Amino acid sequence: MRRQELRSVFIHSPEFEKYELAPHHPFRPVRSKATYDLCAKLNLLSHDWIQVVNPKPLGVEFLLLFHDHKYIEYLQAADKGKFFDKLIEFNLGTGECPVFRGLYDYAALCAGAAFEGVRSLIKDRCDIAFSPMGGHHHAGKRHAEGFCYINDVAVIITYLLHRGMRVAYVDLDAHHGNGVQDAFYENDRVLTISLHETGETLYPWGGHRTETGEGPGQGYNVNIPLPPATDDEIYMAAFREIVPPLVEAFRPDLIISVAGADVLAVDPLTHLSLTNNAMADAAAVLRGFSKKLLVLGGGGYDIDALARAWALVWAVLNNIEPKDEYLGTVGGVFLGETDVESGSLRDAHVYTTGPDKKRINKQVNDTIDYIKRIVFPVHGLR
Ligand SMILES: [Zn+2]
Repeated sequence: MRRQELRSVFIHSPEFEKYELAPHHPFRPVRSKATYDLCAKLNLLSHDWIQVVNPKPLGVEFLLLFHDHKYIEYLQAADKGKFFDKLIEFNLGTGECPVFRGLYDYAALCAGAAFEGVRSLIKDRCDIAFSPMGGHHHAGKRHAEGFCYINDVAVIITYLLHRGMRVAYVDLDAHHGNGVQDAFYENDRVLTISLHETGETLYPWGGHRTETGEGPGQGYNVNIPLPPATDDEIYMAAFREIVPPLVEAFRPDLIISVAGADVLAVDPLTHLSLTNNAMADAAAVLRGFSKKLLVLGGGGYDIDALARAWALVWAVLNNIEPKDEYLGTVGGVFLGETDVESGSLRDAHVYTTGPDKKRINKQVNDTIDYIKRIVFPVHGLR
């Protein structure tokens, strides 16, 4: 898609920064403001093809597309910020999913941001939409999990299915997207591909390559678990081997991706060794499908690294070079040489070497072979 044909939407609400899950909780809603501010500073929002949209909380009738009504009732009851015993049944009021004042409004606003993205896309108001506050892929139908209360991804995919659409979901967060996998495990109208740190070393402890869907959904759920210390090179090789052929064969109406910044080597909660160059390269591939594309933020627990990574992803999605007198330029070449001069938005590459690299390469190649053997034939690929 040429730049002059592209229309994009950046979704951000100043309301997000009002919320705090708990003091010192690693998930900080200020991430949306941090990304927005950096993009604004780098002149990545003030172009005539870009619209910045302020989302509204999503109505309960849409939340119920995926969630159980009892769970939504208790989320609403938890909005006052007071814990009571019954909430534990829904995993609310735990260390990972604390109860806080405004919890329901916050969760509905996150879902509203993702919904604003799909609505802009299907109403043909844009071709690409990005919501830094989206991608709450761990929440279940009737429980909170992994810092996620409302599963915005499952809600909007269900909405799209009701409209007769086919959705490719590419989950690039460091954690396996268990909530979304479970939601569409038997569905052949959702192609779910998740690249994530292996469940042997990271929550939610699943996402094995053998989880490939069931019934009509057999072959429509793909997991690429990655060992700790997987670097950009290994990651992008796996991504290119699996994602483009499957997405092209599936022919989705729309692509949704979660671009979790917790894949970064500096992330305090995870163990991959990626840099934002891999995130940028993956975004460029997704943009290259020339399909309607919604990118949601996902995880990321180093706010500065997250803001730089998502500003870079946003720049790549829009095919523009940020220029800033302090930060310098991105380098101008997104798909070729990377610019690691100090001051660039791009991280310096981190390379895993020696026996570790060999071992990781072998494990990931085994997974690629497995997927090609088990999943590719379902899609007429060899
Ligand atoms: Zn994550």
